[in-house]
Amino acid sequence: MKMDLKKIKETGAEYLFQNYGRAELAFTHGKGAYLYDAEGREYLDLVAGIAVNSIGHSHPRWVEAMRDQVSKLAHVSNLYHVGEQAELAEKVAAIAPGGLKRSLFVNSGAEANEGAMKLAVRYTGRGKIMSALNGFHGRTSASLGATGQTKYQETFEPLISGAYRYYGFGDIESVKGMIGKDTAAVMVEPIQGEGGVVTASADFFKGVRDLCTDNGALMVADEVQTGVGRTGRWFGMDLHGVVPDVMTLAKGLGGGAPIGAVVTTDEISKVMTPGSHGTTFGGNPLVTRSASVVIDVIREEGLVGNADGLGREWMAELGAIRSDKVRDVRGSGLMIGVELDSEATAAAVKGAMLDKGILVNVCHGNVLRLIPPLIISRGQKDAFMSAFKDVI
Ligand SMILES: *Cc1c(COP(=O)(O)O)cnc(C)c1O
Repeated sequence: MKMDLKKIKETGAEYLFQNYGRAELAFTHGKGAYLYDAEGREYLDLVAGIAVNSIGHSHPRWVEAMRDQVSKLAHVSNLYHVGEQAELAEKVAAIAPGGLKRSLFVNSGAEANEGAMKLAVRYTGRGKIMSALNGFHGRTSASLGATGQTKYQETFEPLISGAYRYYGFGDIESVKGMIGKDTAAVMVEPIQGEGGVVTASADFFKGVRDLCTDNGALMVADEVQTGVGRTGRWFGMDLHGVVPDVMTLAKGLGGGAPIGAVVTTDEISKVMTPGSHGTTFGGNPLVTRSASVVIDVIREEGLVGNADGLGREWMAELGAIRSDKVRDVRGSGLMIGVELDSEATAAAVKGAMLDKGILVNVCHGNVLRLIPPLIISRGQKDAFMSAFKDVI
């Protein structure tokens, strides 16, 4: 099927839900850190499918593995043993911190968080979930309940029960005041992504860890956006030196394959007995092979180190820009937020960067979010910087 942008828009307008605000763009292919449209225009991709395309587009190792896998076996049920799934679980255990060694594979970030909440409720026998104001945990009912931002929840409230309580991110006193013997889990993002690339001190995360331990609640780290190398560490919690009880993964794990994971300890995982939880597609051979290749490539190409080193340089250069339009530069590794002075500035900057062939994302209204593929080079960073300085 060959469609130009006009035709794609017309057909989509007729037959698709109109639930996304889409830019006037459609891509036909990608290579490394670049995307291309039907007219052959090239775009430097600093969005990466929202922190998904961690090894870039059409990485040769990934293409070869996917071809091979599709030609052999794409899907079988979890009624049977799945070799690719077991292999991926072993790889995740090798990079996960502390005693986190068992994985349950699902199909998205929201679903991973749903799984983590069900796990916590079953493990603790308690019903309350605590999560941070301004956080984001997904759009399915329970993950939406845990998303402490009314803009996502309003009009869906009947679906969200009284199970959720919201603490102030970075405010350990508010966690302390809320946690108790009814708390099943405290959910936390190592760096809030959708919330505007906002982090808190290592002391805050250590405080949450201690409060969870003291109160018998599970600490659930939502690493859906920060996980698998993004922040210059394998996992965002590694930045804070904290090992959670459960972590959830998705976005960058599959490099484009829809896969999520709930990762926890041997002991906690035991409460999920046969039949207690599951999903038809979860961890099928195609998506788990994809994630296996992603982890191999990240390791062999030193991409965690690239994210760390290049991210530091990038943030230093952004921080050196003297402009009253730039309010703050923050983040870690290749998850960088540039807070601008207004939503109007952010929209204008995004448009002007697009005119220069560079795709950037805006989150939380006025925060330019740079979440490029982890394979991005210094030269590509420099190309962004010179364009951005012009635009600012
Ligand atoms: C994107 C995101 C989710 C939701 O993931 P989906 O795959 O869109 O369901 C959950 N948590 C965080 C931190 C995210 O960034």
